[in-house]
Amino acid sequence: MTAAFTAIAPLAQVTGADLCVPLADGSTRTYANFDYAASAPALTQVVERIDQLLHTYSSVHRGAGYASKVSTDNYENAREIVGRFVGATDEHVVVFTRNTTDSLNLLAGCVPGSVVVLDIEHHANLLPWKGSRIVRAAGTIEETIRRLVVELCARPAGLLAITGASNVTGEVLPIARIADIAHRCGARILVDAAQLAPHRAIDIGAWGVDYLAFSGHKLYAPFGAGVLVGRRDWLDCADPYLSGGGAVRNVTVTNTQWALSPARHEAGTPNILGAGALAAACETIESLGFEYIAEHERALCEQLVAGLRTVPGLEVLSLWSDCEDSVGIVTFTVDGFEPREIATYLSDVHGIGVRDGRFCAHPLLDRLGHADGAVRASIGLGTGCADVERLVGAVRTLVPESALA
Ligand code: PMP
Repeated sequence: MTAAFTAIAPLAQVTGADLCVPLADGSTRTYANFDYAASAPALTQVVERIDQLLHTYSSVHRGAGYASKVSTDNYENAREIVGRFVGATDEHVVVFTRNTTDSLNLLAGCVPGSVVVLDIEHHANLLPWKGSRIVRAAGTIEETIRRLVVELCARPAGLLAITGASNVTGEVLPIARIADIAHRCGARILVDAAQLAPHRAIDIGAWGVDYLAFSGHKLYAPFGAGVLVGRRDWLDCADPYLSGGGAVRNVTVTNTQWALSPARHEAGTPNILGAGALAAACETIESLGFEYIAEHERALCEQLVAGLRTVPGLEVLSLWSDCEDSVGIVTFTVDGFEPREIATYLSDVHGIGVRDGRFCAHPLLDRLGHADGAVRASIGLGTGCADVERLVGAVRTLVPESALA
């Protein structure tokens, strides 16, 4: 480890930082969590807020009692906080969902035209769009954008649905530029921000993004809430995502008058704690400052990639040679080792948690030449340079010492 890396401490306190896990030899070790991209641990501020919310926890929107009124205020306040966090404007409405997958399925029921997607997307941003037009991403962002333009110009599309940051390589797309292109071609744009929201400031107003989806559990907020933020017109023209109480203005036995969004798509008792946790996470992350968050993970990723590259036969996966930014995700393979073998070894022998497999992005892994999968190490606010050093050291012990430089 070089001197530059010695000072990188975790940026925030998260749950599970002192978790001790069993190793195969019967001993225990403090867990090193490198699986933030799947689900991030909760920020301690989020846990504290949940505790507070539980004091007045009650039904929302319908009760006249004090606790119900406070819970309703908390829930609606959470909606405002989340909207501000992503730069929503008066044209956008914030709908609470279960997660990104839920948000995208909701929107799929609202889009009036065809949907254009890249072939690199997470399944959540591939499968909900029925009859989508799939564009093959190129080896550079420039050429990928050119291909999108060709497809969008070839015949009108209702929506371009695109990821903000790849869940496999962490690479970030220039969303404001792509939004502008989509609009010029007459399409709206949806950004799957599941991986972007925990890592980079988002401003859908300034970027011209029409719809944005992300998940609380990747944003240090457990309890299962997600969000779809988007323009009201399509949402209000579509059938409600779920039919039931709360989504209506008036019901007779022969007729139903549906409410406008967000209530229209939030039938049933909502996830009050999930929404509150998500809002608390947004506030905490904002107070940390995205410039520090980006710098923290840039330094850790640099350390991680530099360390991993010393391992013979190790390949770090990437999509675009001209990509200028990526979030805290490093996915790799090591010649001669199955991804599951590496992940199991890291867990059983070193107490390190990574993810292996195809990351719900089978077409992408196929085209990267790794149809059998890879290993993904992802970092976040609770990661420090000592964790990275431990992971690099553990991966180095995989290969025979004679092969190491
Ligand atoms: N999109 C991306 C880019 C993701 O990484 C994920 C989660 N792996 C999803 C969508 C789906 O998120 P969720 O499981 O929270 O619905």
